[in-house]
Amino acid sequence: MAKNKTVYRFFNIIPISLFIMLIVLGKNGNVGISSEKNSLVDKKKLIPILMYHHVGKEGVEVNKITITNKRFEEDMKYLKDNRYTPIFFNELVSYEENGTSLPEKPVIITFDDGLEDNYKYAYPVLRKNNMKATIFTIGSRIGIRNFNNDTRYSYFTWKEGKEMYESGIVEIQPHSYDLHNYKENSKHGVGVLPMSREDEDLHYDRFSKDTVQVMKLIKENIGCDSYVYAYPYGKYNSTNERVLKDLNFKVTLTTKSKYADISNGLYELKRINVPSHKKLNELLINYK
Ligand SMILES: [Zn+2]
Repeated sequence: MAKNKTVYRFFNIIPISLFIMLIVLGKNGNVGISSEKNSLVDKKKLIPILMYHHVGKEGVEVNKITITNKRFEEDMKYLKDNRYTPIFFNELVSYEENGTSLPEKPVIITFDDGLEDNYKYAYPVLRKNNMKATIFTIGSRIGIRNFNNDTRYSYFTWKEGKEMYESGIVEIQPHSYDLHNYKENSKHGVGVLPMSREDEDLHYDRFSKDTVQVMKLIKENIGCDSYVYAYPYGKYNSTNERVLKDLNFKVTLTTKSKYADISNGLYELKRINVPSHKKLNELLINYK
């Protein structure tokens, strides 16, 4: 009897092991099969996160970070025609944390700096096409017109930010409170990086305070919880990452002009800059 039971157990284990193996194979995608097949599977973990800055009125001087509103309309049409679905970052978080599904061809549209032209020229296009986007604001510059007497640098107001957020198609997230500086001085380093000779603890505290300040302002004035951080100029170090994880940020973004690879989580994701001289089909075609 005891022997029969053992035999029974043995045969019972085989289908269970097979079942487990199939689950593992299904999850990781063809384990042990050619690397070509693996790389195809990995592409599902590559997400295009588009990075825009200025969207100016037709006639504006275009460059690496400035496109016209007409060009932006063309980009949105391209995404629609090619069946891309714009998503919010929280859909990526939910995919990672809860295994919820993503659309067939997800894309994330982002804007850095919180410029007034985003409200004037990009937001109407997003609204018309019902496309989601995330704007990263510099807290200390909200509502400032002609920053440093430069007419190109005007930032939308809290009221405008709130209006966009309440439309349900725009999220507002932090791009520092006051660390968007390309040169170091006595108060800050380059972007969020430490100042020369600043030790790790001081750097941690300074960056943490700056981040809490912008999070608080966004929450109070717009109502949006902060969970995605775009590093100014894409520059950061491990202390910055530690601060943001301690403050419960779920996603951090750099630049680097590559597809974001989410196979190792949602921190330090790369984004694709959209310059005026390259069309979306040139930026996206090689991957999908
Ligand atoms: Zn920026």
